[in-house]
Amino acid sequence: MESSIAKEAVKKYLNTLKETKRRNPYLKPIIGFYGGEPLLNFDLIKEVINYAKKIYKGCFFTLTTNGILLRKEIADFLAQNEVAIAVSLNGQREEHDRLRVFPDHSGSFDIILKNLINLSEKYSDYYKKFCSIIVCYDYGSDIIEMSRFFDKQADLLKVARVNMISDSFGRWYKRYSKEDKEKFFERMEYCKQMYFEHLKRGNENRFLSALIGTPYTLILNRSINILYSLTRPKFLPFTATCVPGTKVAVDPDGNLHCCEKMNYNFPIGNVQKWLEIEKIGILVEKYNSEITKDCLNCCVKRLCPLCFALTAGIEKFEKEPADVCEKIRKSIKKQFEEVWSLLEDGVDLFDIVTQKGYKQGGVFL
Ligand code: SF4
Ligand code: SF4
Repeated sequence: MESSIAKEAVKKYLNTLKETKRRNPYLKPIIGFYGGEPLLNFDLIKEVINYAKKIYKGCFFTLTTNGILLRKEIADFLAQNEVAIAVSLNGQREEHDRLRVFPDHSGSFDIILKNLINLSEKYSDYYKKFCSIIVCYDYGSDIIEMSRFFDKQADLLKVARVNMISDSFGRWYKRYSKEDKEKFFERMEYCKQMYFEHLKRGNENRFLSALIGTPYTLILNRSINILYSLTRPKFLPFTATCVPGTKVAVDPDGNLHCCEKMNYNFPIGNVQKWLEIEKIGILVEKYNSEITKDCLNCCVKRLCPLCFALTAGIEKFEKEPADVCEKIRKSIKKQFEEVWSLLEDGVDLFDIVTQKGYKQGGVFL
C-alpha cells in the first residue's frame, strides 16, 4: 500500500469519527494493521502511527502478525506506542510447524517463541497488557495436545481467540479423510469434557474457554426479554451481520470494504470519496434478498453467526455449504443442551458470561 493511500484513509476515518462522536462521545478510534503479514511493511506502519498521533490524540492501534519479525527496533516501536498485538501461534512446535512454514518448509515456531520471550522480558508490563495469541486449527490438529501446551505456557501465551480455519468457498478440507474427521471430533469431545471439568472445579483454561466456551457466552448473553426486532437495525433484521461502514477495511488500492475478513468483491467506497451510501444500500439489499429470505421463522435467528464476510462469493452472497442453516441450527441446539446440562449440574457460569479470561488479557476490555 502506498503511504499516500494509508494516510488519506487515516485522515478520512478520523474526520468522520469527529462527526460520529457527536452522537457517541465515548467512541475511541482504533486503527488496525492486517496482512498477509503487515510487518513486512513496517516502515508504512511506523509512518501511519506517527501521522495518526500527530493529527488525533488518543488513537488505539492493533496489529495482527505471524510474529516472525517481532524483534529489535520493530518490537521497541510497538511497545513504545502500546500497539496491541495479536500473534498467530497454533500451539506446540509440531502443530504450529505443520501449517506455518517458510518457503523451504522449515517451521517458524522457534523464532516466534523466542521473539515473544524476548518481548515479555524487555517490556513486561506492555506484554502483559497488550499481547495476545490467536490460534487456528483444522481437522488435522491435535487439539488435546494444543490445550496441554497452552495450559503449560499460560503465563507467557495469553490465548485470546481460537478459530477453525474457514472453508467457505474453499477446498482446504478436501485433504482430510473421513477417519481424520472422526479422530478430530473424538478429540473435540475429549476437550469438551476437560473444559466441563475445569468449569466444575472453577479452574481457568484460556485455550479451552476460547475453543469450547465462546458459543456458550453468546447463548448466556443473548437478549431474552427484548423484542428481537429491537436488537437489530430495521434494514438488516436478521443474522449477526454488521452495518457496513461501522468498521472500514482499506485494501492496498484504496478501496473500502466491510471488514478485513471480507473479500474484495463488494467495495463500499474508496479513500477519495470515503463511504458511498448507494453502494452500501445495494450491498444491504443484495444480502437481504440472497441470504435472509428464510430467517423470519428460524428458531436460531437471535444467535445465527452468518454475516457479509462469511457469505460473500464472487458476484453474490451465498450460503456455503448449501445446508449451512441446517448445520447452524443443529450446532446451536447442541450448545443449548450443553449449557443447560451444566446449569443443572450446578456449575456457576458467571465466569463464562463475564469472559474473565479475556478481560485479564487486557486487549478485549
Ligand atoms: S466479520 Fe462479518 S459481522 Fe464482523 S465486521 Fe466482518 S462482515 Fe461485519
Ligand atoms: S440459520 Fe439460516 S435461516 Fe436461520 S437465521 Fe441463520 S441464515 Fe437465517
